[in-house]
Amino acid sequence: MAGFVTHLESAIDGTHLEAEQIQTLHEGRPLWVRYDLEAVGAALTKENVARRTNSMWRYRELLPAPWGEEVTLGEGMSPLLACPRLGAQFGLENLWIKDESQLPTGSFKSRGLSMALSMARHFGIQRVAIPTAGNAGGATAAYAARAGIEAFVFMPEDTPVINQYEARSLGAHVYLVNGLINDCARIVREGKSAMDWFDLSTLKEPYRIEGKKTMGLELAEQFQWELPDVILYPTGGGTGLIGMWKAFHELLALGWLRSDKMPRMVSVQSAGCEPIARAYRNEERFADPHENAHTCASGLRVPVAVGDFMILDAVRQSGGIAISVDDGQIPAWTNQASAAEGISVCPETGACLGALKSLRKKGWIQPNERVVVFNTGALQKYLEVMQLPTTKLPFIDLNQEIDFDFIEQVSVSES
Ligand SMILES: *Cc1c(COP(=O)(O)O)cnc(C)c1O
Repeated sequence: MAGFVTHLESAIDGTHLEAEQIQTLHEGRPLWVRYDLEAVGAALTKENVARRTNSMWRYRELLPAPWGEEVTLGEGMSPLLACPRLGAQFGLENLWIKDESQLPTGSFKSRGLSMALSMARHFGIQRVAIPTAGNAGGATAAYAARAGIEAFVFMPEDTPVINQYEARSLGAHVYLVNGLINDCARIVREGKSAMDWFDLSTLKEPYRIEGKKTMGLELAEQFQWELPDVILYPTGGGTGLIGMWKAFHELLALGWLRSDKMPRMVSVQSAGCEPIARAYRNEERFADPHENAHTCASGLRVPVAVGDFMILDAVRQSGGIAISVDDGQIPAWTNQASAAEGISVCPETGACLGALKSLRKKGWIQPNERVVVFNTGALQKYLEVMQLPTTKLPFIDLNQEIDFDFIEQVSVSES
């Protein structure tokens, strides 16, 4: 393979596997992509990176895709926004949001799927399939269209309606399933020989992590190569958190970080689906499936994660924590954060803000610590959450006289 990839490595037992052929899982568990970091360090400087294209491909020496063959829509280099007003509401002096809502298809899923479809095309794959809780379906459809690859998307029937139709509009074959994402995953797994498709499920191919790790590379660069104290990350399958933790170690090996202080990684879930938070509390390395999973933050509705131990290892090694929040309060936190800073905060990130509130209250986070929350998607994709009864809009009936007292009263009650 072009570039600096040396091999793939089993995350569960360290076995080395050949990178120049299609790989999936090993012993039912995910693979790491490994690089010759010494050679990367000799070939690349921070100054080179700073002059490059404003997308995640600026870190191409740390990425597997064959250069010049990227399947891209310009993903990455999302803004890192200081949030003083929201910070003050939480008693924090140094709060930041890395805003992934502006990426292609409105979520950070575009990073992983840009990379996965680049590699799929490199290997000559012509048909892919994915189970999704929502945003991965739209991103798969978009990058498959871009790559000229046929895509099949399977999602729970109660997936947000915009996710359903965006994937279809972007050219994928979309199917609704009366089950959860793990049931959709079974369809993809069992259909492999009948349908001859490649399974793009979270962590079942090695490259989506590499796309998502660029969130960590960007964060380091945007903070002048000094990592924050705490990172809060909404966790479904865990690729984002696992990828960032990997990225930080690669930067350490390159000697690019100005200190060896690593951030405490906080994995956030909803109490309605909290396999990782529960395994953390129970001091287990592997997570039991969460029965009857439900949450309005659809990206968190992942009852079983094949990379559970990778998430939990990263959280523990970092001195972080995995916690869950009350699902019913997610819409309120989402609105609070969106309104405070003008950022289109998705419900998954709303959960992170609930976690931030409780961790600050407990003193787990100090007022002067530098805290980054990832906004993994755009609120506009969650019509169903925006329409929940607590956020119904007041109505003006033009058959009656316009009542400005009423308009004033509503504004007062909302502020
Ligand atoms: C998929 C998704 C998540 C969960 O991401 P993982 O990396 O799979 O843990 C969080 N937020 C949003 C908006 C998502 O689409």
